Amino acid sequence: MTDRVHVIGAGISGLGAAHLLAREGADSVIWEAAEKPGGRAGYHLWEGQCLEYGGKNFASDWTIFNSFATEFGLIERDIQHPNFHIVLNDRLIGLAKKTTPGSAVKMLWNIGPTASLEFQRLLAQAKRNAGRLNHTEGLIQEVEDKHDHLPISHLFHRNLAQGPLRMFSIIMGAAEPEETYLSQILLFLSSFGKGTHHSVPGGLVRLFDALSKGKDLRLNARLTRIEVENGRLKALHIEEGGKTRVEPAERAIVTLPLNRLVELVDLPGDIRAEAGLIRYFPLALINAIYDADVFTPQMNSIMFQPGSILGHCSANRLYTKNHVRFTLSGRAARQVLHLPDEVLIERAEAEFGRFHPIAGNRVHYHVQRHWDGICGYAPRFTRIKRRLLDHIATIGGLEIAGDYLDGHNMEGCLTSARKAVGRMGSGAAPASVAA
Ligand SMILES: Cc1cc2nc3c(=O)[nH]c(=O)nc-3n(C[C@H](O)[C@H](O)[C@H](O)COP(=O)(O)OP(=O)(O)OC[C@H]3O[C@@H](n4cnc5c(N)ncnc54)[C@H](O)[C@@H]3O)c2cc1C
Repeated sequence: MTDRVHVIGAGISGLGAAHLLAREGADSVIWEAAEKPGGRAGYHLWEGQCLEYGGKNFASDWTIFNSFATEFGLIERDIQHPNFHIVLNDRLIGLAKKTTPGSAVKMLWNIGPTASLEFQRLLAQAKRNAGRLNHTEGLIQEVEDKHDHLPISHLFHRNLAQGPLRMFSIIMGAAEPEETYLSQILLFLSSFGKGTHHSVPGGLVRLFDALSKGKDLRLNARLTRIEVENGRLKALHIEEGGKTRVEPAERAIVTLPLNRLVELVDLPGDIRAEAGLIRYFPLALINAIYDADVFTPQMNSIMFQPGSILGHCSANRLYTKNHVRFTLSGRAARQVLHLPDEVLIERAEAEFGRFHPIAGNRVHYHVQRHWDGICGYAPRFTRIKRRLLDHIATIGGLEIAGDYLDGHNMEGCLTSARKAVGRMGSGAAPASVAA
C-alpha cells in the first residue's frame, strides 16, 4: 500500500488501525477531535497516576490486544476482582465470578427457583454454543430472528431480568433490560468467564503512548464532513484551530461511534434509519481517591440495583483500595448526567454509602461523561451492520471500524480495525493476529 491513509479518531480502534497499517508498512495520519488519544478507553493523569475513565480490562485470550501488549513490552498484568457484590432488594450480597454449587444455591435463594432455572438454562445455552456465536454471522442471526423482537425484560422472569441480566446489560452497554436483546446477552455470556481478566499496571496511558509513538497524530482536529464524489472518497473536511479546511483524501478509515459517523457522511434514507436503531446509552465514570481505604480484599466491586444512579463501582486495582471508580449508568443515571461535577460525586457517594461506608476524606476526583456510551448495539444487529458495511463498500477508498461492528470491547474494536485494514487492500493480516 503506497497512499497515505487518513484514520479518523484516536481511540483504540483508530490507533489500532494506524498501528496495523504501520505493521504493513503503510503510512497514516490520524485526526482526533480531543486533546489526547484514548477516546472511551481514555484516562486522566493525576500525581503520576493514570486514572482510566473508560475501557480498562482485557482478557488473556484476546489475540490482537495481547499481541500489541507483547510488542510494547506490557507483559506484566494487574489481576481483576475474583468476586463481586450485588445490591438486590436493597441488600448487599457477595457472589463469586465462577459458578460453584455454593453460588448456585445463593442465587436460588435470592432470585427464586423459576428465575434460577432460567438462568442456568441460559448459561448452558451460551456455553454450549460459545464456539458458534460471533458478532457477524451464523447462529447469532438465528437468535436475532427468533428472539430480538422483544427485549430481555419480556423474555425472562422478572427476578432474572432485573437481577443478573440487568447486571450484564449495565456492564455491556449502560442499558436497562428493557433496552437489551437476547442476542447481546448470549454473545456476552458466551465469552463470560473465558480467560482471565487483567488491566495494565501503570494504566492504559502506556498502551496509548506506545501506539501513538512515531505516528502522525493530529490532536484537536475534528472531522466535520466526509466528501464523496462519483462513488469515491474525495475529501475530508477538518476543523482545526477554529478554521475548517478541505483535505483531499483517497483512503480513510473512520473509527467514530456510529451515531457520529452518520452525521458526517451521506447515507441512503433506509440505511440511515436502520443505523439510527443502533443505540448508545450515555453514562459517567467518576474516579475518586480517598485518604483511607474504602474497599477490602473481600469487597471491591459492587453492582447496584434498578432505580439507582450507580451501575457498577469498583476499586481501580485490587491493591488501590482507596480509589473508587463510580459508574453512573442506567436509566436513573441518565436523568442526572447534566448536573455539575460536584453534585454528581456527592450523589454517587451518598448512594454508595447506603451499602458500604466511605470512611476517609476525598482527596481527588475526576468526572468523565461518556455521551457515546460504552458501545453501540441494537436488536437484529448483524443485519443492520451488514447493510451498512455493504453500502460503505460501494464508496471507493472509505472504510469503517469501531465498537459497533465486532464486539463491545477493546478486542472487538481491534478486530474491526484489522478487518478495515484488510479490506483496504493491504493484503492479509499477519499470522500473529489472524482470527
Ligand atoms: C465506562 C466504560 C468502561 C468500559 N470498560 C471496558 C473494559 O473494561 N474493557 C473493554 O475492553 N472495553 C470497555 N469499554 C468499551 C471500550 O472502552 C470501547 O469499546 C472502546 O474504547 C471504543 O473505542 P473506539 O476507538 O471504537 O471509539 P472511541 O474510543 O469513542 O474513539 C473515537 C475517537 O474519535 C474521536 N472523535 C469523535 N468525533 C470525532 C470527529 N468528528 N473528528 C475526529 N475525532 C473524533 C473521539 O474523541 C475518540 O477519541 C468500556 C467503555 C466505557 C465507556
